[in-house]
Amino acid sequence: MVAGDVKTIAAVLHWGRSYLRAAGVEEPARTAAILLGHVLDHDTGWVYAHPEEMLDEEHLFAFHRVVKKRAQRVPVQYITGCQEFMSLEFLVCPGVFIPRPETEILVEWVLKVSRSLRPKVCKGGGQETGDPLIVADIGTGSGVVAVSVAYYVPWCRVYATDISTRALKVAAENAARNGVAGRVSFWQGDLFQPLDENGLAGQVDIIATNPPYVSTAEYRDLEPEVRRWEPAEALLAGPRGLDFYPRLAGEAPRYLKPGGYLGLEVGYNQAGAVTAMLQSDGRYTAIEVWRDYAGRDRVVTARCRGRG
Ligand code: SAM
Ligand code: GLN
Repeated sequence: MVAGDVKTIAAVLHWGRSYLRAAGVEEPARTAAILLGHVLDHDTGWVYAHPEEMLDEEHLFAFHRVVKKRAQRVPVQYITGCQEFMSLEFLVCPGVFIPRPETEILVEWVLKVSRSLRPKVCKGGGQETGDPLIVADIGTGSGVVAVSVAYYVPWCRVYATDISTRALKVAAENAARNGVAGRVSFWQGDLFQPLDENGLAGQVDIIATNPPYVSTAEYRDLEPEVRRWEPAEALLAGPRGLDFYPRLAGEAPRYLKPGGYLGLEVGYNQAGAVTAMLQSDGRYTAIEVWRDYAGRDRVVTARCRGRG
């Protein structure tokens, strides 16, 4: 608790930092500032710039509450309710996977392919009179891939699926908040199944997916933030973490146009196995592996054979 009646920002930050450090939370100083900013409805920069400012009882109480929550290893994003991704703001809540920065590699690849396909949808004096590019996001979670692709590629139409209705609710809210609700549909179901029901077999230009890919052994070693608070069904994928890839690789060609693209996010040690899977399938060409900013293999992409 804050000693006596010293309730300046500097003093409560000091308390928060010590409390979090004692609980073994990473980056205790930065976390305390983020949490105080959240409580005061200001950014972290403002918090640092106003060390002498006094807190009222209500804010002090709220700060104590969130610091204690964080000390119980609730992820910061579940406390603040948001996460930035591709420079956009996304809502998250317990039960919905928190988007990771490395998934931006998958989105960047979709943006690159979308730009290369753009001339095909532009007819007549540069006016976009053609059919929109069709993008599918399988296992959309909070909707980060679907929404950021729709946001940065105005000439596309996105269809996103997830098994979790809770995730889909959050994803739909994120599409609305980012102004793309009119171009993204969210469907509940098992992987591609909703695409079938909506007549999208053979219609999709790009499939992007960040499926669960954590192995049983890796899962046991994940931080308490992830194990205790994030949905296991968003992460766990069997003994080697590879359970989803045979189905994704096996079923994707049914939905892709000839020459369509498939992008799979993978775990740092899975690119070899996933590449081999795509090669032995026989229907894929131009198989490539993309690394994340930490230099780890992160995305495997391929093109479905065909006219294109
Ligand atoms: N695309 C989001 C992102 O990158 O932040 C979420 C990725 S999370 C690793 C995997 C998502 O797949 C979760 O939202 C989970 O609910 C969903 N999922 C798991 N099994 C599924 C299935 N059989 N069909 C559809 N979605 C599934
Ligand atoms: N990168 C995530 C983690 O290890 C896993 C994401 C996934 O399974 N798709 O926390």
